Amino acid sequence: MENPYKDGPDQAAEYLRLALLLLAKNRLPVSPLNYRMAYDSAAGSSEVLKQALDDAVVFPDKPLAEHLWENYRRCYIQDDETLDSIRQELKLLITNMQQDMDRSGGALQNYSARLGRFLSLLGASPSPEDMEIEVKRVIDDTRAAEQTHRQFESQISQISGELEALRNELMQVKQASLTDSLTGIANRASFDAYLEQALDKAERDGSHICLLLADVDFFKNVNDSYGHLVGDKVLRYVAATLKRCVKGSDFVARFGGEEFAIVLPDTDLDGAYTVAEQIRMAISSGRLKDMNSGKAYSRVTISIGVAKSARADLPGNLIERADRMLYQAKSGGRNRCEKAA
Ligand code: GH3
Ligand code: MG
Ligand code: MG
Repeated sequence: MENPYKDGPDQAAEYLRLALLLLAKNRLPVSPLNYRMAYDSAAGSSEVLKQALDDAVVFPDKPLAEHLWENYRRCYIQDDETLDSIRQELKLLITNMQQDMDRSGGALQNYSARLGRFLSLLGASPSPEDMEIEVKRVIDDTRAAEQTHRQFESQISQISGELEALRNELMQVKQASLTDSLTGIANRASFDAYLEQALDKAERDGSHICLLLADVDFFKNVNDSYGHLVGDKVLRYVAATLKRCVKGSDFVARFGGEEFAIVLPDTDLDGAYTVAEQIRMAISSGRLKDMNSGKAYSRVTISIGVAKSARADLPGNLIERADRMLYQAKSGGRNRCEKAA
């Protein structure tokens, strides 16, 4: 498993502060499990603790500690347990299959021996009586073999159905591990894997890719003015808009907190800058409203840094160049895009 915590010291310290606040506000002990949930909530990578606290309100008679443990299990351990149970089921299935094959194989071997004996009998000019007896035995054995064969066939088709179901379960576990639960787009782990592959492919093809790093402007203000739930809504809005603005072959991921990454394969810097501008304008032209009062929240804008891959580029270097451009867009006044020279 890959290390899910890659925040630098300052970022981690900020999440620590938010996590402790969250725990203190809810009078929860700073146990390792509670802290992990609170940290992830603060970092926006998981909603476990908030969800658990909501659940606790819905089911007030259950002790909070039990709720938290259940949520922790569901969100952090469940995948391991699911994988374990899939492994066990597969083992059982294959063992049964092997036994069935051995059994059917044994029965068919007996049948083949019977046919061999019949052939030798025919070679020895048998009497009509002997022949009749032997033909009768061969007919019986043929029926038995047919039966065995049919049973085996139905076992095989049942097993192939069970294998298919297990495969679907595996694909779901895999999908969940690659998706950001808040926005439904690819998560950081998935982005890291994709970027490495995309750079390798560009290297082989002699082409290049562009990376866009987008960061929501003054996002802290959104949380402070309207609360975290509205902040979350803004993040879902940004994710959905990014998806809408790019082609199917482009890759959109949540890079961290309120930062997003977009990879454009086979695209030059000017093309990528144009896409970035379209995204920026699409985000700033939308307006989010409070569902109940119908009142609009303040405008959401993003800043974007754009960088193009070089020969034998490393993922970290490309990210760093895009990040530098993002910083430039921020210091240049925000709600703007900057591309590396
Ligand atoms: P800047 O324009 O310079 O980017 O300012 P900013 O306020 O957007 O930047 P800053 O890094 O100071 O604040 C980012 C905030 O995003 C802090 C953090 O609490 C919040 N955040 C990160 N992830 C989530 C999340 O999943 N949900 C919510 N509601 N807030 C989040
Ligand atoms: Mg940021
Ligand atoms: Mg920001």
